[in-house]
Amino acid sequence: MVVTAIISMVFGLIGLVSSMVLMAEKSGKASKTMSVIGLGFLVFGAFTIPAPGPGDRPRDQRGDAPAPITGETAATEPAGSGSGPDSTLSGRIIAVDPGHGGGDPGAIGPAGTLEKDITLSVSKYLMLFLEEAGAEVVATRLEDRNLSTRERQAVANHATADAFVSIHVNAHDLESVMGTETYYYPNHPRSEDLAQGIQDRIAEALDSRDRGIRQASFAILRGAQMPAVLVECLYLSSPVEEQRLLEPEVRQTIARAILRALEEFFGEP
Ligand SMILES: [Zn+2]
Repeated sequence: MVVTAIISMVFGLIGLVSSMVLMAEKSGKASKTMSVIGLGFLVFGAFTIPAPGPGDRPRDQRGDAPAPITGETAATEPAGSGSGPDSTLSGRIIAVDPGHGGGDPGAIGPAGTLEKDITLSVSKYLMLFLEEAGAEVVATRLEDRNLSTRERQAVANHATADAFVSIHVNAHDLESVMGTETYYYPNHPRSEDLAQGIQDRIAEALDSRDRGIRQASFAILRGAQMPAVLVECLYLSSPVEEQRLLEPEVRQTIARAILRALEEFFGEP
């Protein structure tokens, strides 16, 4: 009895461990999980989650787990001008990188909003719109976890993505500093074009201060084998822009602007 019990326990453990390994491997392949996200959006879309108000954030002040960015409502308008099978994004592989995550919150707004939550929310809208436009999406993360720069890059390079977009929001010591800026590195001859397109579209769509594109030697851009940009959508350190970023519509607007820029980018000869 004891022996059989031990043997079955050992086999049970082996089964458990191997299924965990299998799950870990699966979760590493971001594209596989995209259909789950799509489904999640569909399910979520059945409900209307109100935009977060001041009363929705008491957990931050208590130092508990950060309040998630709510309001992942499904998009009500068509995402892009050329979305659908005729989109220039059809068949393109786009790597989306929500900045920070897990133990790395990124910037923290005056009201306690965490950059990692904003970047994930904007990225999820972008992934949804890209899929609607027929693109194949790979994500560096889909949940609240942190990855190294090397891991994020590996996702894009391994997938042989056609473009890499890292989503961030900015921070400054002065609360009065506001606006949009986009970073690129000459890792690829078209990175600057992509940065300019995304910068123009976001600044235009948000009517934000256009702080322009900037060349920066960020490791995440240097190692990318495709046109790559890092966009700082708005300043989370600005109370005004923090409130804007808490609006689901504003996060959708950013995602739509990036989608349009990508459509234009791949439409050019
Ligand atoms: Zn950041």
